[in-house]
Amino acid sequence: MTSVTWFKLVTVAGLLVGQILCKRQYIEMTHEIHDRVVTYPGMPKFNFTNLERGDKRGFWVEYNKFQLSEHAGTHIDAPIHFNQHGRYLHEVPLDNLVGPGVIVDITHRAKRDRRAEVNVEDILRWEDTHGKIPKGSFVIMKSGWFRKYPDTTQIFGVDVNRFPSTDFRFPGISPAAAQWLIDHREINGVGGDTPSPDRGGGSHMRTHLIILGANKVILENVANLDKVPPSGATIYALPINLHRGSGGPLRIFATLNDGEDFDYSGSGRSLPLTGATLFCVLFVKLMY
Ligand SMILES: [Zn+2]
Repeated sequence: MTSVTWFKLVTVAGLLVGQILCKRQYIEMTHEIHDRVVTYPGMPKFNFTNLERGDKRGFWVEYNKFQLSEHAGTHIDAPIHFNQHGRYLHEVPLDNLVGPGVIVDITHRAKRDRRAEVNVEDILRWEDTHGKIPKGSFVIMKSGWFRKYPDTTQIFGVDVNRFPSTDFRFPGISPAAAQWLIDHREINGVGGDTPSPDRGGGSHMRTHLIILGANKVILENVANLDKVPPSGATIYALPINLHRGSGGPLRIFATLNDGEDFDYSGSGRSLPLTGATLFCVLFVKLMY
């Protein structure tokens, strides 16, 4: 084979390796909705009723109906939830539902203290490592609570049928951190893997009031935070388009390697092309 043929072969191999390594990934961040869907105590229970299942019409037909609190399982709070003048769910613009993921990990602290909070220092530490929080971000607390789902007693820290909400014990985002984010960064919202960004046991919903008061959204009971990197993911927090909803069930997921598509425009976003170029340079060095 001539060196030109070799060069072409190596280029193709480089592109393939680059494509495999840098393929866009999708990460599910939503708990499934089923009979054990976790709601705040007092919210109506999930009800799923089959209306038809079978082939008596000569072909298979299956359909159901269900009833669900807006605020059940993995869900979004629209600003109107705690802000009389805030947006309803159908009024939240789509570009406020997609943005960079800022995952703030307090798992270790939450293991020792069930009422641990993301505080301003945690956010500044995140920025020291990953840079300034990008515009449109979702700042999401990772406490490890997603692993307890759907065990309500484990999540709330007590038997919710016997104890008042003042006895609940789960981590959250401090009101001071929420206020700092609103004052100093342009976020789309906050979230976490617990039922509320206000830690269990009472903070008078101050974090809710600050975030929703600024017309931002809150994402609750987010799943699989061990699979989402601290920075670099894009979060898609997509609720149903419920007219006058105060919130609603979410399908939330993250994507990684968003610049993976082959890109010949010269914008420099394509990792596969960079991989291929490196292969070629190495090959030419070895040959000559
Ligand atoms: Zn809610």
